[in-house]
Amino acid sequence: MSVTRTGPLPSGPEAEYDVVVVGAGVVGCAIARALARHPLRVALVEAASDVGDGTSKANTAILHTGFDAAPGTLEARLVREGHRLLGAFAGEAGIPVEPLGALLVAWDEQQRAALPRLAEKAERNGHRTTRLLSADELRLREPHLGPGALAALAVPGESVICPWTTTLAYATQAVRSGVDLHLDCRVEKVRTGDPWHRLVTRRGVLRTRHLVNACGLHADAFDALLDRRDFTVTPRRGQLLVFDKFARDLVRHILLPVPGPLGKGVLVSPTVYGNVMLGPTAEDLDDKTATGTTAEGLAGLREQGGRIVPALLDEEVTAVYAGLRAATGQEDYRCAAHPALRYVTVGGIRSTGLSASLALAEHVLGLLADCGLELGPERPLAPVRMPNLGEAFPRPYRDAELIAREPEFGMIVCHCERVTRGEIRAAYASDIPPAGPDGLRRRTRARGGRCQGHFCGAEIRALSEEYGQGAR
Ligand SMILES: Cc1cc2nc3c(=O)[nH]c(=O)nc-3n(C[C@H](O)[C@H](O)[C@H](O)COP(=O)(O)OP(=O)(O)OC[C@H]3O[C@@H](n4cnc5c(N)ncnc54)[C@H](O)[C@@H]3O)c2cc1C
Repeated sequence: MSVTRTGPLPSGPEAEYDVVVVGAGVVGCAIARALARHPLRVALVEAASDVGDGTSKANTAILHTGFDAAPGTLEARLVREGHRLLGAFAGEAGIPVEPLGALLVAWDEQQRAALPRLAEKAERNGHRTTRLLSADELRLREPHLGPGALAALAVPGESVICPWTTTLAYATQAVRSGVDLHLDCRVEKVRTGDPWHRLVTRRGVLRTRHLVNACGLHADAFDALLDRRDFTVTPRRGQLLVFDKFARDLVRHILLPVPGPLGKGVLVSPTVYGNVMLGPTAEDLDDKTATGTTAEGLAGLREQGGRIVPALLDEEVTAVYAGLRAATGQEDYRCAAHPALRYVTVGGIRSTGLSASLALAEHVLGLLADCGLELGPERPLAPVRMPNLGEAFPRPYRDAELIAREPEFGMIVCHCERVTRGEIRAAYASDIPPAGPDGLRRRTRARGGRCQGHFCGAEIRALSEEYGQGAR
């Protein structure tokens, strides 16, 4: 197993692979993990210095059931299967998930009239447990809801999950099971050939028999490297507000609006870290790097959030962020096998890629087989157990036995999020250590709380220097 971030790539047979997966977002990492079950030489290649550094780090973190997907689509099937697969894997790997259930709230007569149709749609998608709630039932379940809520559709099974741990768990298990991970390694050119495609990167050349494009927002640009122009990705920005942990008691379920033409709409939801999230917006842009938030976007969210849970607006905002969905103008994923090129494109994974990731990976294995890849027999993956970042599960600072054994887990450094020295050390000692402060936050929550590192930043920087030395 190897993880590289700097220096020239390996050369000779070490740089020859059966499959290279380009893009280490949640989708690419899931695909690499699925391939690792087979006796193949596999590399996962990522332009950024960390896994999950693109859209996969900035979403609403819901493990969707797929109840509202367009029935009969690939997305509907893969989200339904992905929900089941990721639910099971999360338990095994220690990924925090809370099955809070969702309430789809109707605020006017038109929306109320739409609820039975949504229940039927859910049924066509295989979800038979939704239930219509009256205004009174709804208020009993969500006492802080704003005035004017007329009814709701309850959707059991919708869950909140940690998106960072999910991606990292896939990548860690892939690496432990033999996949090479090359970070800071953008693929700039592809010279197609038989039996080898040559992938030209800033750090050298890799050769592969089969190729998977899991480039998210850049899937169209990567397709163009192989002279394919099947779709165009339009970044659809989603801005979000994260409220402080004092807001957590205001919301018990994932509160969804009745969906409109631009997608799932603005939701209010608890997070697994104990905060409350409000968003996302849906803005079609031209710029694939426009991950900043805007004053208008956030003001619009506050206005909508104030209607859903008015008391939320009295709470402090801990963070704001934005992510870009890979919209392609089609209400389905754009997954395709190109057997003549021994190439698979996994595109248009807009707003459900986290939920569908494990099922998408299985689907891609099938597409690779259609391209002539012989998977060979299956073998078990190396086990993985991730550090817990979820508030609903035991955290190290409360684990007396662990602290007795390793006192650094009792030494809190980030007081807002209660992150200990031990967790920071463990992050740097892990299979895929962080490349910077954001990567450390996604592995430990350090600097992610209400002070955003104002009080702990210097100490965390010093510890990162100290523990990072060993990791380099
Ligand atoms: C606001 C918002 C809310 C969302 N909410 C949810 C939700 O609640 N639940 C859910 O299931 N999904 C949700 N999603 C969708 C989900 O986040 C995405 O579907 C998923 O993250 C897509 O993962 P990916 O791996 O395809 O893309 P990415 O995470 O973007 O990964 C693609 C990677 O490819 C790399 N790359 C690109 N080009 C190259 C190259 N040439 N060489 C090497 N590397 C390259 C990039 O650097 C990037 O890291 C949401 C998305 C947004 C934006």
